[in-house]
Amino acid sequence: MAVDATQPYDDQNVFAKILRGEIPNKTVYQDEFALAFHDINPQAPTHVLVIPKGAYVCWDDFSAKASDAEIAGFVRAVGTVARDMGLVALGYRLLANAGTDSHQEVPHLHVHLFAGKPLGPMLVR
Ligand code: 5GP
Repeated sequence: MAVDATQPYDDQNVFAKILRGEIPNKTVYQDEFALAFHDINPQAPTHVLVIPKGAYVCWDDFSAKASDAEIAGFVRAVGTVARDMGLVALGYRLLANAGTDSHQEVPHLHVHLFAGKPLGPMLVR
């Protein structure tokens, strides 16, 4: 079921469990502000999820409530992941679903990082 972006944070969501180490993940990067790991159901040759370590439902929640340090740390982490994975030269796509119309499934902010082939049109037409 798609996430209602206005709902309070649910600390039983799957990414909260990953952050607490209760569910395994294939980590590609982490620092004080962010964790990056491979998506369990990849939609491209490279499909990594980058999540903030803080408890934020979606982009709306994060952009309204996170500290400047958390926001800067998260944005820098996304860039670091792409650089460290060698994705800058051929390019990559970032996508963050927020709320019902976007079909956000997991109610913890995550940015999808897709790469590894020409990624086609931005949205299904
Ligand atoms: P959304 O639709 O919320 O933007 O994307 C959620 C993503 O989380 C999906 O691409 C899905 O495959 C991924 N996902 C869901 N559960 C797990 C999990 O337990 N581990 C990992 N690594 N990815 C997950």
